[in-house]
Amino acid sequence: MLKIEGLRAEIEGKEILKGIDLEVPTGEIHAIMGPNGSGKSTLSYVLSGREGYEITGGSATFNGQDLLAMEPEERAATGLFLAFQYPVELPGVGNANFLRTALNAQRRAKGESELDAMQFLKLARERMRALSMPEDMLKRGVNVGFSGGEKKRNEVLQMALLKPSLAILDETDSGLDIDALKIVADGVNAMRGPDFSSLVITHYQRLLDYIVPDRVHVLMQGRIVQSGGPELAKQLEASGYASVEAA
Ligand code: ADP
Ligand code: MG
Ligand code: MG
Repeated sequence: MLKIEGLRAEIEGKEILKGIDLEVPTGEIHAIMGPNGSGKSTLSYVLSGREGYEITGGSATFNGQDLLAMEPEERAATGLFLAFQYPVELPGVGNANFLRTALNAQRRAKGESELDAMQFLKLARERMRALSMPEDMLKRGVNVGFSGGEKKRNEVLQMALLKPSLAILDETDSGLDIDALKIVADGVNAMRGPDFSSLVITHYQRLLDYIVPDRVHVLMQGRIVQSGGPELAKQLEASGYASVEAA
């Protein structure tokens, strides 16, 4: 399970996370909602080990291992998967190679044999058929010229190949049409099971119509200020974040 205790983090000397406490037990999907600027993306970046953030207090462990002490690659090897709001475009890097490199890095870390190009293609094609992805998306540069929906499909393919034990998804639903939202939701729902957990970060309730979370947490000004069941998301949709602030 993911366990975050009193986590504090700064960027450029400004404290953004002001003591986050959160537990996501294995097998559960939790949502984090909150207004713009509340620190949602910062939390996902800090958990992924992105540079530029200073951890000034607290801890984050995943299955008892200190996440914050690990390199980003080590975090991935322990089964952590992060999908970002704005997937990077890597011109010149073939998508197939990119995905195979990520998968083989994980297999090496687990002591499993690496997949050669043919083995990888067989597996990737199988997973892509399930996601209704056109095969030419393997040949193109990573995310280059991909539509919003294709980027999401690619992210979900990555997840389907890596089979993470914890997926953190930071979604600004604003840029996503309903089809893209459904792609993400189907991808996450297909992973559901006793060994999978997910932290779904979102500004809007809409995504949570498709991914029904076990718990919902509200992040405001760098702190979790309220937690509840899936009904909390609906409540926030109806009454807005100001109602939480006032409470
Ligand atoms: P959210 O994802 O909830 O919209 P963010 O985590 O992106 O919020 O941002 C939280 C706060 O951190 C905001 O006030 C934002 O302006 C600030 N912030 C984010 N990135 C930087 C940065 N690189 N330098 C300074 N402040 C930043
Ligand atoms: Mg934002
Ligand atoms: Mg954000």
